[in-house]
Amino acid sequence: MYRPISSSVTKFKELPRAEEIQPDREIRRGPRVASKEVPPDLRSVPGSPREPKQEHWFARHFPEPNFKLGILTQTYYTVLDNIPAPTHETHKILKEKYGDLIKRVNQEADLYHEKPPASPPDPSPDLTKEIKAKAKEVGVDLVGITRFDRTYVTAETKGQALFKHVIVLCRAFDWNITHTIPSVEWDVHSYDTSLALSLAGLELADFIRSKGYRVQFIAGTGTPGEQMIVPILPYAIAAGLGQMGANGTMLTPEFGSRVRVIGISTDAPVTHDKPVDYGINILCEKCQVCVQRCPGRALPNIKVNWHGVTKYKIITERCQPMLKYAECNICTKVCPVQHFGLKRVLDHYRETDGQILGKGTDELESYTMFDKGRFGVGERPKFNVKEGGKGLMRMAVSLKLIQPIRPVLERNPDPLYDEDRIPALEE
Ligand code: SF4
Ligand code: SF4
Repeated sequence: MYRPISSSVTKFKELPRAEEIQPDREIRRGPRVASKEVPPDLRSVPGSPREPKQEHWFARHFPEPNFKLGILTQTYYTVLDNIPAPTHETHKILKEKYGDLIKRVNQEADLYHEKPPASPPDPSPDLTKEIKAKAKEVGVDLVGITRFDRTYVTAETKGQALFKHVIVLCRAFDWNITHTIPSVEWDVHSYDTSLALSLAGLELADFIRSKGYRVQFIAGTGTPGEQMIVPILPYAIAAGLGQMGANGTMLTPEFGSRVRVIGISTDAPVTHDKPVDYGINILCEKCQVCVQRCPGRALPNIKVNWHGVTKYKIITERCQPMLKYAECNICTKVCPVQHFGLKRVLDHYRETDGQILGKGTDELESYTMFDKGRFGVGERPKFNVKEGGKGLMRMAVSLKLIQPIRPVLERNPDPLYDEDRIPALEE
């Protein structure tokens, strides 16, 4: 049964409101874009190119593992515990700023579904307008609603989701701070944003309960220690908030990927939004700036069919070592949709017969990566194996933090590859 959480450790005796965490941000919201404004040669399908039958087959027989619980994430934290890294500075600052507040917010979110409705059900047949207005009032910058699709439940969290509607909530990062990426300043700001969004989500959840319904936090809080039942991006795209970019995350027309995204589910009566074609599926094929600028070489330049969805699939193992640089996020910083907003990018594309706004300029593409120095257009840092240049697992092995795979194979020889068992070929 749900019990309220209290703390004497932090200066935040009660959970604060989002605006107390982040009173000022310059979010530079770009205008919304309608499908009919997308140039004809950038049009494809609303949302993501999907094969629902394949998606359901994969979900049934090979469900995606929960990223938060997986071997890569565990190995990343083992590595981080054993190396000097700018990310440590972020965690130190967060601890000084918030004490145990982040932990308490995560606990509150994890247990929220145990709270009963606070009143009898509101007689209104549709609470969509009220919920969306409340979301904006409490500090949410974008909100979309879709149905709960079991296809995306992770292998470890099957059977845990309770309600049939998903409300996706986004809060934008400050434009100027985003342009310091990679930096501890941005890393701390990103967690401030996550915390503010989680607090906004809790306030919205209280509002829904006050209308006589229940809420479950299904997709994290974006803060350290969060839990997730589903990855939120497929729902965000189904709710029309954006489309997947080549940088492995969702681009919104207003902010590109300069947003934190969380999701709650509810049994309140709501109307679902629809996926939209903003032209991003094809725009990314022509842009490729993030692919060329990624220091970890983690973004491929081809799309694949991944569990029934055609998309760019980030190579997580190569991205992870870069997260020690204050979560990297160079792929967000250098994206023209983030920098200018989608409308300006599409207008420029139309007016210049297919040019990508800002591509090839230092204003958009350059970055300074801590002790590695500054990198202009066409330049990227290099990393040795111990720094993660060959991926996270080889980094962990070279730092002697995990055992290489070979001894396991030696203990369990595969007869096909055991030379003693294979007869020599006759001359
Ligand atoms: S976070 Fe950094 S390493 Fe990872 S995909 Fe983005 S740019 Fe590449
Ligand atoms: S930088 Fe270009 S290719 Fe990468 S996500 Fe943004 S628009 Fe797509």
